[in-house]
Amino acid sequence: MAFRNFKMVDYVVYGRGCFDQLSDILAPHRKDGAPMVFLLDNFFENDNTFKARIPLQGNDLLIIADVTHEPKTTQVDKISQQLKDKFGTVSGVIGIGGGSAMDLAKAVAIMMNNPGNAHDYQGWDLVKNPAVYKVGIPTLSGTGAEVSRTCVLTGPTKKLGMNSDFTPFNQIVLDPELIKGAPKNQRFYTGMDCYIHCIESLQGTYINAFSRSYGEKALELCQEVFLNKKDWDEESDEQLMMASFAGGMSIAYSQVGVAHAVSYGLSYLLGTKHGIGNCIVFNHLEEFYPEGVKEFHQMVKQANIDIPQGVCKDLTDEQFDTMINVSLGMAPLWENALGKDWQKQMNRERLRKLYEKL
Ligand code: NAD
Ligand code: ZN
Repeated sequence: MAFRNFKMVDYVVYGRGCFDQLSDILAPHRKDGAPMVFLLDNFFENDNTFKARIPLQGNDLLIIADVTHEPKTTQVDKISQQLKDKFGTVSGVIGIGGGSAMDLAKAVAIMMNNPGNAHDYQGWDLVKNPAVYKVGIPTLSGTGAEVSRTCVLTGPTKKLGMNSDFTPFNQIVLDPELIKGAPKNQRFYTGMDCYIHCIESLQGTYINAFSRSYGEKALELCQEVFLNKKDWDEESDEQLMMASFAGGMSIAYSQVGVAHAVSYGLSYLLGTKHGIGNCIVFNHLEEFYPEGVKEFHQMVKQANIDIPQGVCKDLTDEQFDTMINVSLGMAPLWENALGKDWQKQMNRERLRKLYEKL
């Protein structure tokens, strides 16, 4: 067995207000005539106070990233082509926002140095050349996109990331102040992505001491903020930010499981977003993760969140088949969840019943 030799983020700065160090951090990476490109989550489009803190210089460009839908390969191609046409090359790409804006930044940085289209690189280790310098700055916490070696994209035929050693950020800026304005529901859905990463990693067959040590810490932090505290406070932002980081580190060396495998089918067919999709599915996974689902129900109750129900009730057989195909295509997730003989336990009929419950 070959052990994974896994590429990590190069630099991490953490602390309340550390966003203001961005100018100094970028300085040594600026190349003559080549701008820094900031991809800003469109949530901040009209936030002039925040925009004024972005250290634009010379011909730097601020692009408002439309994250109404999760990133598409066509969106990546459009932005990178515009940048190539206008500047030839850029000094770096900085993604500021939730998982969508960060993934978009990773993908654009890769495409600046690679030929063809983004969809050519959806898969494992297909990226040929190192990306331009890239920085991730989360304004929502939970996905772990800030530490992962993938950037999830919806392409013409599949929803799959560019998984490669060239995908992780060179630098991440973890400033808990930036996530404080997130509305309760969004914070919960994205936060639960992290909680579910922990359960799937810790309960999976791929678990090892590396993943467990990060997963247990991330789980503890999620329990602290979503169960043990009455009110959300500054410390909660700090804890959730580090939970996301540690949860991402945990799955980097193990794998996610049933909730992700099933929710990928939902999001492929219905466009359901990652965080809420995982919640819709996890809500019904007692048979796989009894304790985790019980605790999840407590967290839902405590945060007073409505998890949508009945999302599959009007679907046709053909649509169920599409979701089942997408889901069963995620073999490593099922293998992690159920073991090497997962196909004996999970089949089309059982999965269809599960989708019907959602
Ligand atoms: P998101 O990035 O899709 O953003 C959700 C919404 O929240 C958007 O409308 C956004 O504008 C808004 N938003 C962002 N910051 C905000 C703030 N501070 N306050 C208020 N609103 C804010 O949500 P997400 O859950 O962070 O990310 C989901 C995306 O991440 C999906 O595209 C998913 O595929 C991807 N993902 C990637 C990885 C990875 O390893 N690369 C892992 C999990 C998920
Ligand atoms: Zn996830």
